[in-house]
Amino acid sequence: MKITLLGIDDERLIRPLQLIADLFFEECEVRLTTNEADEVPDYTIKIDLNQKLTKFLVSVSLRNLCTGITYTETSQRTWPNPDENEKEAFKLIKREISRCFLLTLQHETGIIQKWGFLTGIRPTKLLHKEVQMGTPKEIAHQKLKDEYMIHTEKIDLMQQIVERQLEMVPDLYDLKNEVSIYIGIPFCPTKCAYCTFPAFAINGKQGKVDSFLGGLHYEMRKVGEWLKEKGICITTIYYGGGTPTSITAEEMDLLYEEMYNSFPSVEKVREITVEAGRPDTITPEKLEVLKKWKIDRISINPQSYTQETLKAIGRHHTVEETIDKFWLARKSGMKNINMDLIIGLPGEGTEELSHSLTETEKLMPESLTVHTLSFKRASEMTRHKNRYKVADRAEVEKMMDMASCWTIEHGYVPYYLYRQKNILGNLENVGYASPGQESIYNIMIMEEMQTIIGLGCGASSKFVHPQTGKITRFANPKDPKSYNEGYQHYTEEKIKMLDELFSEMPVIK
Ligand code: SF4
Repeated sequence: MKITLLGIDDERLIRPLQLIADLFFEECEVRLTTNEADEVPDYTIKIDLNQKLTKFLVSVSLRNLCTGITYTETSQRTWPNPDENEKEAFKLIKREISRCFLLTLQHETGIIQKWGFLTGIRPTKLLHKEVQMGTPKEIAHQKLKDEYMIHTEKIDLMQQIVERQLEMVPDLYDLKNEVSIYIGIPFCPTKCAYCTFPAFAINGKQGKVDSFLGGLHYEMRKVGEWLKEKGICITTIYYGGGTPTSITAEEMDLLYEEMYNSFPSVEKVREITVEAGRPDTITPEKLEVLKKWKIDRISINPQSYTQETLKAIGRHHTVEETIDKFWLARKSGMKNINMDLIIGLPGEGTEELSHSLTETEKLMPESLTVHTLSFKRASEMTRHKNRYKVADRAEVEKMMDMASCWTIEHGYVPYYLYRQKNILGNLENVGYASPGQESIYNIMIMEEMQTIIGLGCGASSKFVHPQTGKITRFANPKDPKSYNEGYQHYTEEKIKMLDELFSEMPVIK
């Protein structure tokens, strides 16, 4: 699918229009007009912009070159500030062009986008910003409707989530002087077809695992020393990956011992989570280790309760194993268990989801994260897309509604959400929890209110400036070989960045 842009040559418009076109079409390319006679587009978008002293008029015409049908949308706005600088003026024009473009595409395809032309990953951040500025609720909601064309249903979901987060973490806006820690363990028993995480099949790789853990212990010690020296507290710690329970019980034991020895006041950390995502990695010995170190929030992820689906996506464990391991964890004293489901896995429709929800009802985990399948560029599933048959947009939406109704009926509340590119039906991933059992780390990572230091393979650090809120990122390498060769360098770089970020904090001696 090719869309050519006419009437305007500002390259800054290509990306936002491309993101909007991607909501409607698979593999679509938006480009500026070219002179190459052989490249006939499927659509043209003609943009007219008329700027007057106090007003500007935008007109967008989408023409289907095959049917000859054209849809035109116009918008007339008043400059809020006649002395608007160029950057702000461009933002306003871009918004109006985006709005008109979205409307023409909705006419052409019949698809209504409930998130409007918002294409960002973290919609709730927009609402938090308004809450922090003290904007009354109705005005904030109206802004989201006007500025992005978000539908009431999605705004209500955002509102519910923001309220839940502030109830769970009342000092959410004041945690800038603390940090959270993410620890990435890049190994899994096998690689799932939809996965793009750093996850390397662990079997036969003991040498690599040993060196990796050596590097990780080093990073924990160095960063721990720095935190102690600066007197900075840790809000939450999260072990992800990969599957952090794919290493042995002894290795886990040494790692958590290192955490207690290296990090400041671990007993005061609000939450420590270990993803035990793959049930085939959970053993009674590992559960004992988790208990010994007072880690009582884990994830056991079924994704689906249909065996053929698990086989099709490369998860080499059985449905029974998920259920058995859930009860094993429960009996060993795990009080906060999260389970993930994915809507729209290959071959799945409402029937399979209904079955998964019925099975979930028998377990009633404290939290349930409902993902919508996304075709990530680097996954096996995307590379061989034609081999995987997935539900259409209408069915995916129906499944999302089913899951949402089910959570309400069973006493769960939504507490975080994020969107992804190439997600089926342009929907979202939503974390639900029994009130009071929400994961604080998930709130911190989504709302970007504090620095998260990433240690280990594939761990990316997000530095949030305590005063300005400016975000800088830093990524550790994704593959164990590069990590093992360079972990000292990556640790030094991070500490340098932390020094700069927290330079105004007094040193505690
Ligand atoms: S268990 Fe998770 S991290 Fe591991 S391969 Fe599957 S999706 Fe990726």
